[in-house]
Amino acid sequence: MNKYIFLALAGLVSSTGLMAQQRSIPRPSCTTILSEAMFSRKDTVKERGVADNYHTWENGATLKVKFMGGGGGKVLRDKVMMYAKEWEKWGNVKLNFVADNDPKTDIRVKLGQGRGHNSAVGTEAIFRSQEEQTMNFDTIYLADIDYYISKLKQKKNYGPYNVKHIEEEMRLEPNRWAEKELRRVVMHEFGHALGLLHEQSFPGAVKWNKSDSVYNYYLETQGWNRAKVDFNVFEVAEQFYTNGTAYDPKSIMHYSIEPWQTTDGYSLPDNYELSAGDKTLFAALYPKGRKESVNLVPKIQISNFTKLTVTTNATRKGLVIQPAFDLKTNSVLGEVYFVARLATEDGYYVKSNGLFYNWGGSVAAYKKMNLLPNSKVSYNKLKKNLELFLPFEYIPDLKGENVVVEFTVYLNDSKNNQWNKLMYFSNSSPMSLPAR
Ligand SMILES: [Zn+2]
Repeated sequence: MNKYIFLALAGLVSSTGLMAQQRSIPRPSCTTILSEAMFSRKDTVKERGVADNYHTWENGATLKVKFMGGGGGKVLRDKVMMYAKEWEKWGNVKLNFVADNDPKTDIRVKLGQGRGHNSAVGTEAIFRSQEEQTMNFDTIYLADIDYYISKLKQKKNYGPYNVKHIEEEMRLEPNRWAEKELRRVVMHEFGHALGLLHEQSFPGAVKWNKSDSVYNYYLETQGWNRAKVDFNVFEVAEQFYTNGTAYDPKSIMHYSIEPWQTTDGYSLPDNYELSAGDKTLFAALYPKGRKESVNLVPKIQISNFTKLTVTTNATRKGLVIQPAFDLKTNSVLGEVYFVARLATEDGYYVKSNGLFYNWGGSVAAYKKMNLLPNSKVSYNKLKKNLELFLPFEYIPDLKGENVVVEFTVYLNDSKNNQWNKLMYFSNSSPMSLPAR
């Protein structure tokens, strides 16, 4: 059975392996917040790439960004803002930092401890609730560790050091930041938030040594399991996502590589600047003086998702599923599917046994929608105009177990041979089905 997405998301974000080491504290690599690309389900597309064109923001957008309440002092916040805004110079998108109590924002930054550095990719941030961060910085790894260790040595503490020692020193003397590393990490994470992906996923770029030693390295330094290493390190993008660019070893979106991690001894240091390639790609995704991206693909934006109503209808003998939201298309039309999948309360999709009401092996009701380019549609707001119906007879006997309905929106771009781009998901509260 397939683990159901909502629970999976909640469980897979954290990434930092805190290890007490002799001299230094390992630095967390960044993870993009994982969506269903993590799971080897037949109906999802796992490819990631250099830029996720389907999840870039609208060209010319001003994105509202806030810090999650309480996290990070003014000094650190000012630095994050300053480095994030370096992207603005190279493309037609603005980051508007607003007050912590702003109720509706596009990007939400948490400055705190644990959970590693990570970010949702572009508009995937829309799937997250307003109460949840879309970007996380593990601030202890941005501190000037060498400085704090020198303070410990002055106190005749010669190690081994752990995170608690550094935290204590940071309390005594805050705001000693590893400036170069801080700037690199902020630009990298905001690169994700604006739709960029890891450059090491460029097809054919890195010949990884997929040995236990590499998996163990990431397990020990990051606490990542094998699936997470596959996703964040080894994943290879389709050529399509390169946007016609050449492999760019100087990209801010590239991990550093040790020679033993590759079969041919290839290695790379950390990159601390936006490369010429980063700037060119960014300018193509968000061109100044043009209405839309140079490499335009079909996209849809879901907003104002207010509720997912699921009712049992005894007369019609089935579940009536009515999500309420607004949908906006761009000028290129793709195929859109609305899918309502059934999951059990403990987190598994309900397996389908038949040909009908079956989406990738799971019990589901779905609809293909024909939408017009450059249009806006409201569903189930002023009038009831979208219903997915799942007959009881297609639901296997769950022996009284409660169910959850997961509503997702997928986009297909047949022209570019790109399928099942996840554009939105939401889930209902647990409910019981009528007894058999
Ligand atoms: Zn990253």
